[in-house]
Amino acid sequence: MTESSPVVSRNPADPSDVVMRIPTPGAFAAADTVERARAAQPDWLTGGAAARSAALTAVAESIEALAEELSALAVREVGKPLTEARAEVARTAAIWRYYAQAPFESTGAVHETAQGQGLLLTRCRPHGVAGLITPWNFPFAILSWKAAPALAAGNSVVLKPAPEATACARRLAEILQRALPSGVFTMIPGGAAEGEAVVSTADVVSFTGSTEVGDAVVSAATARGIPVQAEMGGLNAAIVLPDADIGRAAAHIASAIAGYAGQKCTATSRVIAVGAALDPMREALTEALRALPVGDPADPATMCGPLISEHARDQVEGTSYGLPVLVGGPAAPGHGWYTSPTLVEKVPPDHRLLRKEVFGPIAALLPADDLSHAVRITNSSPYGLVTSVHTAGLDAVLHGLDHLGTGMIRVNAPSTGVDFHLPFGGTKASSHGPREQGRAALGFYTTSRTYTLAPDKTT
Ligand code: NAD
Repeated sequence: MTESSPVVSRNPADPSDVVMRIPTPGAFAAADTVERARAAQPDWLTGGAAARSAALTAVAESIEALAEELSALAVREVGKPLTEARAEVARTAAIWRYYAQAPFESTGAVHETAQGQGLLLTRCRPHGVAGLITPWNFPFAILSWKAAPALAAGNSVVLKPAPEATACARRLAEILQRALPSGVFTMIPGGAAEGEAVVSTADVVSFTGSTEVGDAVVSAATARGIPVQAEMGGLNAAIVLPDADIGRAAAHIASAIAGYAGQKCTATSRVIAVGAALDPMREALTEALRALPVGDPADPATMCGPLISEHARDQVEGTSYGLPVLVGGPAAPGHGWYTSPTLVEKVPPDHRLLRKEVFGPIAALLPADDLSHAVRITNSSPYGLVTSVHTAGLDAVLHGLDHLGTGMIRVNAPSTGVDFHLPFGGTKASSHGPREQGRAALGFYTTSRTYTLAPDKTT
């Protein structure tokens, strides 16, 4: 197992500002925490649907009451621009309200017996302890869209958040622990060692993060025979047809490339302009990226703040090295880990930018001869999370819906943006296992039992 060191999270806009320094428990203590969660789970389940619903509603109410404090913490700890941070906190409260209704839903069905008398029943039951492993970029929403359905279904939860977002996770954990019985929700600070301990002891595992770590988590959980889902990286494309409203498409795509400094699995990193769309798109997108407000994430007008770390900033800047840069490149609006929104062109097909997620505000502009060619380029990526299609024509939309290989397709909208009440996920290196969010999540956190009830005597 990997050794642990203390967690230190820093303000990406001002790295001298240490947001949290906290010791990590190590793998053995993490495994003990899972055992305590296992002991707390049966009472949580048998306490009834009304109690679970009330607890989840109380979480939503607390998040709403503390919205400004939570938003400011996300700005400070993970550099999320304030307007986006507020939107994430509002969405987080809505997620808890949505799943607060779930405990009252039907958990099964009644069937006729094939022969003779009696009843056949199916009933969904929780797995036990849900082990959740989360990234830093949506420090409230992602852990909530995993924890809320897991708890609604009657599981207890152990969360291992990303080190970079430990203060956000700890604050949300305090809110949850006030609303839930003792031991039903626990947050373990730490890194790989604690994450591995959770994967090796929980009864069901939900992971979001990079494809490299996700693959290891899936292998470890699969070897134990427990259910696992992993939401991982993206290398998402925006396809622009010549009939699109180019100005509007450029605004959507610029926000998808550089909003929150491109640190979203759904960010756009390939812009595929079909035929005559190439020249106007080059001009409009270059202008939109140049005009996109970069700076202090605490300013409500900012759309692109700093990168999460110096390493991340250096990696983004290294990616454009040697390529024709239309706009962007290194920038230093403060002493934080900033870079400028960047658009490059004439990128060779085997270049890193077209093969591996960068997770920063950079994209390649690529030409396509026609729509089929654009779809082939889109599908050539090792990832398959989301594609946006920009067009005024129904034919292009229908062709895209039939031939694009990504888990999500968004027409005349940025590739970024999530509707928490619908299934979320991708294909290939982007996702493994059943979908998250919506009603699909409740299925993942439960397992179906089949009951046969036969009469003692036939009548
Ligand atoms: P990461 O993979 O570095 O870390 C994710 C989590 O895994 C963290 O909590 C980390 O501590 C933990 N971890 C690390 N090693 C582990 C191990 N060996 N065993 C168990 N857990 C381990 O990712 P990150 O840098 O925190 O987040 C950015 C990544 O997340 C990007 O690749 C992004 O695309 C992805 N992401 C995906 C989605 C999605 O829904 N598809 C959403 C948000 C972010």
